[in-house]
Amino acid sequence: MSTIFEAPAITKNFINGELANGQTDTIDVLSPLDGHVLSKVVISTKVDLDEAVKAAKAAFPAWSGLTLKERVQVFFRFRTLLEKNIETITDIVHQENGKIKSEARAEVLKGIELTEFACSLPQMINDEIQEVSKGVECRTTHVPVGIVASITPFNFPAMVPLWTIPNAVALGNCMILKPSEQTPISAIKIAELLKEAGLPDGVLNVVHGNKQIVEDICDHPDIEAVSFVGSTKVAKLIYQRATFNLKRCVALGGAKNHLIVLPDAHVDMTATNVAASMSGCAGQRCMAASAMVAVGKVDHIIQRICEEAQKIKVGDNLGSVISGEAKERIENYITEAENQGAKVLVDGRNATVAGKEGGFYVGTTVIDYVKPGMKIATEEVFGPVLSIMRTEDIDEAIRIENNSNYGNASSVFTQNGSLANYVMDRVSAGMVGVNIGVPVPREPFSFGGWNESRFGVNDITGKSSIHFWTKLKKRTTKWNPEARTNWMS
Ligand code: NAD
Repeated sequence: MSTIFEAPAITKNFINGELANGQTDTIDVLSPLDGHVLSKVVISTKVDLDEAVKAAKAAFPAWSGLTLKERVQVFFRFRTLLEKNIETITDIVHQENGKIKSEARAEVLKGIELTEFACSLPQMINDEIQEVSKGVECRTTHVPVGIVASITPFNFPAMVPLWTIPNAVALGNCMILKPSEQTPISAIKIAELLKEAGLPDGVLNVVHGNKQIVEDICDHPDIEAVSFVGSTKVAKLIYQRATFNLKRCVALGGAKNHLIVLPDAHVDMTATNVAASMSGCAGQRCMAASAMVAVGKVDHIIQRICEEAQKIKVGDNLGSVISGEAKERIENYITEAENQGAKVLVDGRNATVAGKEGGFYVGTTVIDYVKPGMKIATEEVFGPVLSIMRTEDIDEAIRIENNSNYGNASSVFTQNGSLANYVMDRVSAGMVGVNIGVPVPREPFSFGGWNESRFGVNDITGKSSIHFWTKLKKRTTKWNPEARTNWMS
């Protein structure tokens, strides 16, 4: 395997600007490309977390004391370093996550866009000021929350940490990042580049681990805010635990995204978008097309989708899934649906890549005649699998979408503008689209779903995240002694 980046034997924590050993154990980090042990990652304890929080608290007064304009200078330099190191980070993501290099590269490019958004915060935040009574001024200022945490999943090892770090840190917070223990290496590279960009020690600390350290984060008395991105099961636990401990929390969960295809849809555009959406990053995107509701006579479109799906080949333009367990889970969903009467049109089970037999591969899979009640129709599969449900009626298609517990994304494929709006108005998802397989908002628009795809009030990126990472201070001032004193004196 040609690599640019040699993974460290042990992936350590990053505390107070230095790599740090954890207190106890390590676990193996496997490369899903071929199953070999890429690194070992430390599993931190409460002692490590306390060290990280201590460093963050020590750094907070000076960092939060800078102006926003001063703080974003670090992110201008960081942006340049991301560009300079793009091939290295691409390679790390490829090795630890298993996605193909072009997808890993796209992830870093998105990280650059997120960093640019943070650089523009001084232009975006205009604190309000008004003379509310003769000689009396009210003014709001955005104040950092304090020590904040970001807990991230395996599927975007560079991009999801960059959803939170630039905005939270530029806005004056100090952060504890807990990356996925399955993909911990990209986060360390990001922390090292931020140090190189001039971020003071202690402002960003990375603590590795699993369930225990996440619970310790939710319980830590000095951590004021917790952001989480991962599965719905864990998002619920985190949201309940962090808010029980009176912290602010936004917790993004899993997804089951429905694409509604109408008979008048543009055939090629629909087929290429649907196939790319279900297979990109091996279907391990929270925005991936997972369920397609085919309305009326759309066999000609389904046939083209199958042709497109068959052009996507494991080890070539389709990467691996994250683990052996994930491969088994995905293949079980397919087999169960088949046993219940669904028809597997394109079968990606038992896929292997020559020379990488230890890797975890699932080929693109298209399943027709899935019934809305089946497990594959309701649960998050998180693999390159498209389940097609048939209906004659657009309102029934909308009902199927509305019945999902999730609500991240939904898209409609049609050439009829009023039908497109009809569907967009009625689907229950935070991010909706027309003729687009992955309706992901780009900066400065914010990212966040509805229902069980997001717990908490704010979105995690863009303008909406400013409210999450800051608190408003309302100042009222009066300097002229002759001003009236008879109202709110
Ligand atoms: P996960 O929920 O298993 O893990 C996410 C994080 O939580 C990791 O850092 C992990 O160490 C930690 N964790 C795992 N189990 C825990 C537990 N019981 N208690 C406390 N912490 C725990 O998710 P994953 O498998 O890493 O990522 C895939 C999931 O993330 C999918 O469901 C996907 O849809 C979701 N996701 C959602 C979005 C979104 O924007 N809504 C974005 C990316 C990924």
